[in-house]
Amino acid sequence: MKITRIDTFILHVPVTRSQIADSTHQVTHWGAPGCIIHTDAGIFGTGYSGTHGHLPTDRLITDCIEHTFGPLLAGEDPHAVQHLWRKLAHFPPAQWVGRGGITHLALGAIDIALWDIKAKAAGLPLWQLLGGSDSKIIQAYNTDGGWLNWSLADLVADCRRLVEEEGYSGVKIKVGSPNPTDDLRRIEAVREAIGPAVKLMVDANGRWDVTTALSLGHRFADFDIFWFEEPIWYDDLPGHAELARKLATPIALGEQLYSLDNFRDFIRAGAVHFVQPDVVRLAGITEWWQAADLAYAHRLPVVSHIGDMMQVHLHLAIAHPACTMLEYIPWLRRCFVEPATVRNGYFVAPQQPGAGTTLKDSALNEFNVRN
Ligand code: MG
Repeated sequence: MKITRIDTFILHVPVTRSQIADSTHQVTHWGAPGCIIHTDAGIFGTGYSGTHGHLPTDRLITDCIEHTFGPLLAGEDPHAVQHLWRKLAHFPPAQWVGRGGITHLALGAIDIALWDIKAKAAGLPLWQLLGGSDSKIIQAYNTDGGWLNWSLADLVADCRRLVEEEGYSGVKIKVGSPNPTDDLRRIEAVREAIGPAVKLMVDANGRWDVTTALSLGHRFADFDIFWFEEPIWYDDLPGHAELARKLATPIALGEQLYSLDNFRDFIRAGAVHFVQPDVVRLAGITEWWQAADLAYAHRLPVVSHIGDMMQVHLHLAIAHPACTMLEYIPWLRRCFVEPATVRNGYFVAPQQPGAGTTLKDSALNEFNVRN
């Protein structure tokens, strides 16, 4: 099989209630800049990144796919994913300008498309190609009821509905309000609403400094917080290590770490308890699997951040032994032929061959802003 052509797209899909916010981001659309890789066997693979839907930035990713990496893939066998990953990641002109960021996100989209082809060619869902079994149970936790721009009343109502009506046994809420006392009030109200048996996670999206994170983090134990996510600046390894040592609540991070080397450093420093790699931040499935194996070797749980909006990560969670739980955010569900689905609080194993990334024609017609 040979690669014959690469098409690119940029989807901008509206988020829940037209705008969401955490302590550092405001988003109206989720962006999915990506590519469809065609082969001479008639099989095609789809891969994409996950962004805040900013067109000039998204174009940098698709330009990199098209003009920098595309020529390196022409005529190659898409089965050779590991070989092609190294060829692209170590392409000197691209490596020189970025071993993270734009070039890495572009490589991630390509890598996902190649794995999609590989699984389709085998006639298997990716989780099965990777050796998983659909007897494995993946618990879903919901992040889409906990945004910081929700009023306290809406936040409590949403979290209660997710637990009582939709069957979730875990929810995550955003913290990092201008006045930290408000965060404690929100946590207290949600814990009261969902009861003691439901997992409750909090996410500061890198907003605080170590001092603030320590003083608030000590209070979290009162509310049985399952993990404290991205308390401080993403790259602050010694700061996270200090928090991990001093707080009773476990630390979660990884959604803003770009490379296997980053994960090695944080894990070796004891700076993370719940490891959250993302296939759209790392360079695709190939590097995600390496990071997950690394975490597993340290007996740390892997709970992916879902910049892909679950589609690929669901396959990986089923297949990888470090995973038992996955985040749920539904923004892109309408775009896929087989959208990731939760029933009674647990994910349903996808059945179609591929990595779960095949788009509906209607999604490309309605949401593609690339021209
Ligand atoms: Mg987060």
